[in-house]
Amino acid sequence: MNAHDPSQPHPARPCPVCGKPAAHATRPFCSKRCADVDLHRWLGGHYRVPVVEEDGGLDDTARDDSARDD
Ligand SMILES: [Zn+2]
Repeated sequence: MNAHDPSQPHPARPCPVCGKPAAHATRPFCSKRCADVDLHRWLGGHYRVPVVEEDGGLDDTARDDSARDD
C-alpha cells in the first residue's frame, strides 16, 4: 500500500468523531455537529495542561524532601 502515491486521489477519511464518511463542507468531519464535538474536546484538553504542570511542581517538592533525608 502506498500512502503517499501522488497519482491516487485522497481517500475519503472517516469522521474522527463518529466514523462516518466526512463531508466536503465540514472536512474532516461528517457534519458541523461533529466538528463542534471535536472543538469541545480540544477546549477540554486545554484544561488538563495546568494539571500536568502541577505534577512537575510536586516532583520538585519530593526532591527537596530527599535532600533533607540525606
Ligand atoms: Zn461525524
